[in-house]
Amino acid sequence: MAMLEFDDVEVFYGKVQALRGMNLRVDEGEIVALLGNNGAGKTTTLSTASALVRAHAGRVAFNGQDVTRAHPWNVVSAGLIHVPEGRRIFSTLTVLENLQLGGYLVKERGLVAKRIERVYELLPLLAERRTQQGGTLSGGEQQMLAIGRGLVAGPKMLMLDEPSMGLAPLIVNQVMQVISEIRDQGTTVLLVEQNARAALKVTDRAYVIDGGATTIEGSARDLMADSRIIDAYLGA
Ligand code: ATP
Repeated sequence: MAMLEFDDVEVFYGKVQALRGMNLRVDEGEIVALLGNNGAGKTTTLSTASALVRAHAGRVAFNGQDVTRAHPWNVVSAGLIHVPEGRRIFSTLTVLENLQLGGYLVKERGLVAKRIERVYELLPLLAERRTQQGGTLSGGEQQMLAIGRGLVAGPKMLMLDEPSMGLAPLIVNQVMQVISEIRDQGTTVLLVEQNARAALKVTDRAYVIDGGATTIEGSARDLMADSRIIDAYLGA
């Protein structure tokens, strides 16, 4: 079943066209990566799915529902959660308070507490630091906190924008491992990554985006063997 679908989506920022006939599909239970250079339209794709940016043409559907004209909070309520680039941790709030903010649209407080306990099981380092201020965490820990906060919202699908940015290779692998576990626990994942090598290790499929549209699509295994991908994104 399709969890997220883009059909010929066009997006403009003023006169700048950021998406030019974007088509993509993420099925339930998949990890899909969006690869591509700076300015290709990856972040815009996530923002359009979240309804933070309006499509001028085309159609976006989430979990069988047309969300092209939806409000961002309706999309969140439907279970599509966006972890933006740059983590956006509240540095003077504790780890626990940051996690609680992930549940701001959840009416049942007991459910938020239960989800936070599950995040602590997945990410024990956050449990150890629950009373520590967010700003005192390392970059990798802040990324884990941003992901944990997304999980507290109760996603059917999690969208992660450049989770490996600025992290050491060992930490990047840990983040990818966590993403893999999140999927194994039943959440669909759409991942934007500049680090194609790390992303393709855990993803099922990937799209390359160029000039606001997908240009190459395939399984991670096929893409890792594709000379166009090797030359442009994987290096020697
Ligand atoms: P990056 O990795 O650099 O974030 P990206 O693939 O995510 O790149 P987008 O951020 O989606 O690319 O940008 C797509 C295009 O839209 C680029 O040409 C960019 O300059 C332009 N753009 C993005 N945001 C805005 C904005 N708020 N106003 C005007 N143009 C924008």
